[in-house]
Amino acid sequence: MNVFNSLTRRNEELKPLENNTIRLYTCGPTVYNFAHIGNFRAYTFEDILRRVIQFNGMKIKQVMNLTDVDDKTIKGANAKGVALTDYTKTYKDAFFADLKKLNVQPAEVYPAATDHIPEMIALVQKLMDKGIAYQSDDKSVYFKVREFPGYGKLAHIDFDNQRTGLRCADDEYDKENVGDFALWKAWEESDGPVGWDSPWGRGRPGWHIECSAMSMKYLGETFDLHTGGIDNLFPHHENEIAQAEAATGKEFVKTWMHCAHLRVNGEKMSKSLGNFFTLRDLLDKGYTGREIRYVLINAHYRSGLNFAFDALEDARKALARIDACVEKATDGETPDWAQKHLDDFAAAVNDDLNMPKAFAALFELVRDANGKGGAGVLPVFKRMDEVLGVIFFENEKKAVEIPADIQAILDQRAVARQAKNWAESDRLRDELAAKGWLVKDSKDGQSCTRK
Ligand code: AMP
Ligand code: ZN
Repeated sequence: MNVFNSLTRRNEELKPLENNTIRLYTCGPTVYNFAHIGNFRAYTFEDILRRVIQFNGMKIKQVMNLTDVDDKTIKGANAKGVALTDYTKTYKDAFFADLKKLNVQPAEVYPAATDHIPEMIALVQKLMDKGIAYQSDDKSVYFKVREFPGYGKLAHIDFDNQRTGLRCADDEYDKENVGDFALWKAWEESDGPVGWDSPWGRGRPGWHIECSAMSMKYLGETFDLHTGGIDNLFPHHENEIAQAEAATGKEFVKTWMHCAHLRVNGEKMSKSLGNFFTLRDLLDKGYTGREIRYVLINAHYRSGLNFAFDALEDARKALARIDACVEKATDGETPDWAQKHLDDFAAAVNDDLNMPKAFAALFELVRDANGKGGAGVLPVFKRMDEVLGVIFFENEKKAVEIPADIQAILDQRAVARQAKNWAESDRLRDELAAKGWLVKDSKDGQSCTRK
């Protein structure tokens, strides 16, 4: 299995450092709002990655953090006047529900930042002891960038001429404004009740130290693989490397992978631009998690993907074509032509997760099976679906999310039927049909599917 390593900028074989297990750290959500489907592009990319690792017979230990304390979560909680933990819980729960809807395999560990403050303080202390961190007049603790010679190795930028000794208290900044970054942020009025005691006074961790501390806690000081969206590469991942390697003197992570953005009309889908859809938005429009997953995993992870409703419509048709073929497929000995498509599929996913090619192999299989018959083809679909997770992901297909306006008509119809008002029941059935929904009655009540 080869992958493109952002650190070396080369395709390299992914081999476990220890115990046939890939130790993977994936930067998780900041739980201050519902995740949008741009975020889910990153999480479905990481899901495909972990599935391909297992497809190749390796084991996986994945850690995904939950950033439940940072500028954004504090602002949200204080604006609402609720405790930080109550505020973030809503979005943590929603996040896990969304992952399920998209058939994303759960990670092995989901550490929350607020449960690991002592580990973060210990790491900052280590950097203080080594003289690579300092407390400034504003009481916050900063990482002295010019003391870490490897700074810039992930972003491939030579910062020598730019190390001006400026400081930056914000978690995010661009390459032109690189300076010493905050490890521990001193308490401010706007933090309200949020804060922890530390050797440097009351405050809270910077975003970057969260990931260095939690990844090393669960995966060790050196581990195999670290991923995120491309926007995480700088400064977040660069800073994670600096903090970890300065503290341990060891290589932090062997392989780094980054997925490109999901875009809308050429711009990154993001909260701040306001051009985003949450998963809920799309489910409310009648699309299924299965269809959304299909769209997200179809493109190559390093290529931009433009979000459009047409793609969801195409996904629906493509899945119907696959379903019709799978229905006719049977178990038994796999014919050579089907095995060839499976080999092509395996070669594609092992070539830096080339999903467009992998889907091409799947559709060649469908085309040939439609022509030659489906005897012995079912095991090939099953094997491919270990990676794809869309072929036998049935629950979404059958139990379609019913939009609120349709549910309202169904409720009305249930009342009419209970009153044995069959004329009204039929009228409402026709009304549903006109809106594209087919209702069936059984002894268990009504069930509704899209026509
Ligand atoms: P955040 O909650 O903003 O920290 O983002 C969580 C994850 O989603 C990170 O790995 C980001 O890089 C990723 N991400 C954010 N926006 C997009 C996007 N439009 N396309 C793909 N990944 C994204
Ligand atoms: Zn992170």
